[in-house]
Amino acid sequence: MIVLLTGGTGGAKLVLGFHEETAPEDLVVVCNTADDSVVHGLHVSPDVDTIVYTLAGLIDPAKGWGIRGDTFAVLDQLQRLGNESWFRLGDRDIATHLTRTRMLAQGQPLSLITATLCRELGVSSAVLPMSDERVETRLSTPEGELSFQEYFVKARWQPEVLSLRYQGIEQCRPAPGVLEAIRGADLVAVCPSNPATSIGPILAVPGIREALRETSARVAAVSPMVRGRSFSGPAHRFMAILGVEASVAGLAGAYRDFVDVLVIDTEDRDLQPAVEKLGIDVKATSIRMDTLDDKRRLAREILRFSS
Ligand code: GDP
Repeated sequence: MIVLLTGGTGGAKLVLGFHEETAPEDLVVVCNTADDSVVHGLHVSPDVDTIVYTLAGLIDPAKGWGIRGDTFAVLDQLQRLGNESWFRLGDRDIATHLTRTRMLAQGQPLSLITATLCRELGVSSAVLPMSDERVETRLSTPEGELSFQEYFVKARWQPEVLSLRYQGIEQCRPAPGVLEAIRGADLVAVCPSNPATSIGPILAVPGIREALRETSARVAAVSPMVRGRSFSGPAHRFMAILGVEASVAGLAGAYRDFVDVLVIDTEDRDLQPAVEKLGIDVKATSIRMDTLDDKRRLAREILRFSS
C-alpha cells in the first residue's frame, strides 16, 4: 500500500503519476481539508475535489481545478442576483458540492461522503480527508485575518502573511483509516504541496505526525520548490512562517523528524550536503511535472528507490 499526503495543485500531479504507475486500489490519498469553505451555502472541499476529479479523469487540465468543459451559468446568475462570484464554481462542480452539503446535513461524515463520491465517479483508490472535523487555516495579514480562499483566490495571494493558525486542529481527530494506512504502508510520499497551507495542516492533525515518525514504511517527500522558488503559488513565502529558509534545506528542516528521503531538483544539487547533514537521504532528479510522462516518471523513480 502506498500512502500519499497532498493538497491540490502540485500534489495532484504526483498523485496522478502514482495512479498511473501502480494498481489504483493500492493507493490511499490523504487530503488537506483546512482550505474547505462554505460558498453560497455549499460545503466545498477544494483539495479533495481536485484529487477526486484528477483520479476520475474529469479534471480541467488547463485550470488544474474543476471539471473539464464545465460551464458557469449558475455562477453568472448568482452574480446577477448580487452575490459575490470571486470563488469560481462550475455548474457540474456544483453538483458535487450539493451532494456533499446534503449528506453532511444528514449527519454523514466527510470521509464517507468522499468515499461515495469516489465510488460514483469510478475512482478505485481510497481518498481520505485528513479529518472529518472542521479545521480552517486562518492567515493573519496587515488587512486582518483571512481564510485561505480569501487570501489565495480573492486577494490573489498578494497580502503579506504575518502568521497562520489551523483553527480547530487541537480538537480534531484523523479521519477513519488515516493512521492505519500510514502504519501499514509500504511507502509514504509527501507530495509537492504547500508545506504550510496544504501539508502543514495534515501534519498538525493529532496523531498523524507521530504515525509518520513511527511507521516502518519509507517516507519520501518531494520538494515543491527549486532554487527557493515555488513552481506556482506562494509556498516559498510561507517557509519563514514555518521558521525555516525558503530552500530544500529549509524544507528538510521542517520535515526532518519523519522524512527518510527528500526528492529535490537537480538544480538544487549543491544543497544536497545540507539536507544530508540533517540525516535525510537525497534523490536529485527533475521534479517539474508538466506532462503526464513527467508525473509518471517521477512516481516511477520514487517507487524504484523506495523498494
Ligand atoms: P493548493 O492546495 O491548490 O494550494 O496546492 P498545493 O499546495 O497542493 O500545491 C501548490 C504547490 O505545488 C506549490 O508549492 C508549487 O510550487 C507546487 N508545484 C506546482 N507544480 C509543480 C511541479 O510541477 N513540480 C513540483 N515539484 N511542484 C509543483
